[in-house]
Amino acid sequence: MSDEEKFDAIIIGAGPAGAACAYVLAKNGKSVLLVERGTSAGSKNVTGGRLYTYALELVEPGLYQEAPLERKVVREQIMMLGNSSAMTMDYVDYDFGKEVPQSYSVLRAPFDEWFAAQAEAQGAMLAPGILVDELLEADGKIVGIKAGDDEIYATVVIAADGVNSFIAQKAGLRKDIDAHSVGVGAKEIIELPEQVIEDRFNLNGGEGAARVLVGCSGGVLGGGFLYTNKSSISLGVVLNPEDLADQGKSIHEIMQELKMHPAIYPLIKDGTTVEYGAHLVPETGYHAMPKDLYRDGLIMVGDAAGMVVNTGTIIRGIDLAIVSGVAAAQAILKNENVSNVGPAYVKELEDLDLTPTMKLYANFHELMSNRRMVTVYPKMANEMMKVLFAVDGKLPERMDKAMLKVLKKHVTFGQLLADGWRGFKAV
Ligand SMILES: Cc1cc2nc3c(=O)[nH]c(=O)nc-3n(C[C@H](O)[C@H](O)[C@H](O)COP(=O)(O)OP(=O)(O)OC[C@H]3O[C@@H](n4cnc5c(N)ncnc54)[C@H](O)[C@@H]3O)c2cc1C
Repeated sequence: MSDEEKFDAIIIGAGPAGAACAYVLAKNGKSVLLVERGTSAGSKNVTGGRLYTYALELVEPGLYQEAPLERKVVREQIMMLGNSSAMTMDYVDYDFGKEVPQSYSVLRAPFDEWFAAQAEAQGAMLAPGILVDELLEADGKIVGIKAGDDEIYATVVIAADGVNSFIAQKAGLRKDIDAHSVGVGAKEIIELPEQVIEDRFNLNGGEGAARVLVGCSGGVLGGGFLYTNKSSISLGVVLNPEDLADQGKSIHEIMQELKMHPAIYPLIKDGTTVEYGAHLVPETGYHAMPKDLYRDGLIMVGDAAGMVVNTGTIIRGIDLAIVSGVAAAQAILKNENVSNVGPAYVKELEDLDLTPTMKLYANFHELMSNRRMVTVYPKMANEMMKVLFAVDGKLPERMDKAMLKVLKKHVTFGQLLADGWRGFKAV
């Protein structure tokens, strides 16, 4: 095949990783085919909903201003749920909303469609509604893709096909997905008027809140999230699939319980659920990344390469997907007509601080796999709050004794020390 008949790059998957890669390559004059199995980019995607803006700035400064983003997040909240109580830490920081705001809530269907269209506007060829079934291989290297009866060739193929990367499996870079390394997420989008959202979450116009929910998973390992969009709320949970099965619970049941919790219900009251989606998410951070991120003719980006960080307060997958897409594009641009760009890609990931960030948070998953974090501690925190605030007219117990009693009811000192040590090791 002559060079005129092949693309510089074929990107499989028009999520944030694929679109970012396509945008940067096409902008720099490369011939790019961006293939997406959904009828439109984003139609098959589910996320919690927050995007850290720096990643879009890396693609193109100022690009975020045109993006269909929802609210700039200035309120960061952690809510620990008890049976009929909740303790919320509310950190408001208006610096997060200044100049280039730190992050925005985001809805994936409009965002992904917009991002892929931006790549198209730069000159990438977007092919939606096409499922890539196979990789084409010659002399031990990947040389193209097969979709139905079509065979299409490229110097480099980029696997941006998400968490359950069938392409990486086909290339022999990943094994079949295993239940230890993923979480299963479910999310509802609940529509409410803009003013109602701003009143309920104490927000000024255009500002948003991001809330992590702890103790909302019915004892199953995992947690929840709530993001305010312009005129809707994204509410969801991410749970450990093995633990869910072991406990004989359904994700739908846990979602319903969460929605009816007395501290959550008033926030979504009178809203209309307009979307319900479920999706897997890489959960074990750096440990979920394959040893090899490439082979000759192929590189893996975003969720396909396990690039998600979850510290319990921060979930970063969309931004890391975008950064890895940019890294892949830069590696290709610096290695004209070279198929084996993998080593250059790995270096770009280091230089853009992606791999060091993944390594830094490598042990957080272990910390959050501690069942006491999602069961005992949220309850204990709520009971301690009750000690501080309850008044019934009788002689109160001494505060120190009452607190100690709550503590002893839930954990032994040995457990407390062990958990503290685990936390210390993780950070
Ligand atoms: C419930 C939940 C909450 C989350 N919350 C957040 C959050 O708040 N913030 C955050 O940063 N991250 C969050 N994440 C993680 C984030 O969504 C992912 O890390 C991010 O979407 C990864 O982007 P990607 O482009 O690598 O993959 P994806 O977004 O999964 O895109 C992959 C694309 O490839 C397409 N595709 C797959 N196979 C093929 C094929 N064979 N042929 C053609 N096309 C194909 C898919 O249709 C899809 O469009 C969350 C995830 C979940 C599930």
